[in-house]
Amino acid sequence: MKNLAENPQRRVLPTLEADGSRRWLTPRLGRGRFLSARRGVAYLLIAIFTLVPFIQIGGKPAILLDVVHRRFTLLGYTFLPTDTLLLALLMVATILSIFFFTALAGRVWCGWMCPQTVYLEFLFRPIERLCMGRAGVGGKQTKPVASWRIGAMYLVFLLCALYLAHTFLSYFVGVHELRHWMLQSPAKHPASFVIVLFVTGAMLFNFCYFREQTCLIACPYGRFQSVLLDRDSLVIRYDEKRGEPRGKAAKTRAIGLPVVARDSTDGSTCGGGTPTPSPAKSAGDCVDCSMCVQVCPTGIDIRDGLQFECIACAQCIDACDAVMDKLGRSRGLIRYSSQSAMAGQSKRILRPRLFVYGLVVSGLITALTVLLVSKKPFDVHIARQGGLPFVLSAEGLVENVMRLNLTNRSDEEKQLTIAVVDSAGTRMAGSDTAVAVKVGEMVQKPIHLLAPRDAFQAGRHSVVVRVSDSKGTFVDRKCQLFGPGTAATLEHAQ
Ligand code: SF4
Ligand code: SF4
Repeated sequence: MKNLAENPQRRVLPTLEADGSRRWLTPRLGRGRFLSARRGVAYLLIAIFTLVPFIQIGGKPAILLDVVHRRFTLLGYTFLPTDTLLLALLMVATILSIFFFTALAGRVWCGWMCPQTVYLEFLFRPIERLCMGRAGVGGKQTKPVASWRIGAMYLVFLLCALYLAHTFLSYFVGVHELRHWMLQSPAKHPASFVIVLFVTGAMLFNFCYFREQTCLIACPYGRFQSVLLDRDSLVIRYDEKRGEPRGKAAKTRAIGLPVVARDSTDGSTCGGGTPTPSPAKSAGDCVDCSMCVQVCPTGIDIRDGLQFECIACAQCIDACDAVMDKLGRSRGLIRYSSQSAMAGQSKRILRPRLFVYGLVVSGLITALTVLLVSKKPFDVHIARQGGLPFVLSAEGLVENVMRLNLTNRSDEEKQLTIAVVDSAGTRMAGSDTAVAVKVGEMVQKPIHLLAPRDAFQAGRHSVVVRVSDSKGTFVDRKCQLFGPGTAATLEHAQ
């Protein structure tokens, strides 16, 4: 193949023509065992995506990402804005899990489970193939598609986009709120109506127009794969030793496969025409039928090696296996393998990087579990109120003002009582020691602590503030009071 400098007309991207215009992909369907398995997984996932917002665990949604109120509920546990550490642990564990599974199984997420692939390949494209007929599966179109079929397709696309937009939004606002939006007049909820319209429009844009460009341009995961994969990761590969040199196109005609001419400059398909003659010398198992390219949803030729555009959908495996079956040759010219295995080296499933990722992820998940289990039904944080570090009261006591932040994590309103324990004569001023905190609410409560002067040593005195609920659960918080002492103490206090 000529390089780009020698041949400026060569296509540089699988979805871009030499003149810079978009190359619209209409991939064929490569039927086979992987398509059947992916279809089963996809419809199961579509059912799960649709049903999860309706599932309740312990009276809470299984998943609710309430961005407006900054409350994220996962599997019945609600993360509050104060749970920065928990959320950070969860995020790092999730990212490292992606690293782990990518190093182990390549882009299996992209090809089998990503909502983009699932909805595009198993909802929108089947509808398109049904409505557009020949025009929806690539190759040469013999007659124009009737306009009513195109109109029907876009109508069904619109209904699918509405369903998807409502499913997507239910993860953020909950099914009850969404039902409320749907049953009310748009005039009563203009903001909600605009959100639904916008998300529906975004779905239509993505699944009708942008399509594979989301994977190629918008998603960062494909770009990272070169650093996430190693030579032993499971990827989809063409067996060059077995397939090359590519055989005569005559073989392709002999088994009755549709032949799409390969671009004379870059080796990718360009639709229609006569096949480019292949070398007449003793051929490998690849008959250069280009079926693996015609079925590829990102338009690449897997025979050019591992490329970031490959979403590991296994369509090329199914297509090539069907060709090999017709030729009476063994399957697997394109298969799941690794770079090492293809080079004839021994397979290594357990590698140091997998152990490192696995250990770190296990450690993070353990830490997260311990923190979640040890969480009390309410959070207590204590901090010094601004202003003077202390004042002397008329009775000669040292008064410090502290601020309590009380958060109710439980599912019921809490009556919390504040007291000073382990006090050495310290007490709270006034009798206002109870505070009511509603579900999920955070309340700030200033408290005035009075301590005798002789309790201070070098200007400091430690006390414990206890907050307890009506069920006997309590949280102790230690805090340091300032009093008359050295100048250094006052400077520190200020
Ligand atoms: S489908 Fe198989 S035989 Fe046909 S071009 Fe691709 S690798 Fe070669
Ligand atoms: S090269 Fe094969 S596995 Fe990769 S995206 Fe194309 S069809 Fe799917």
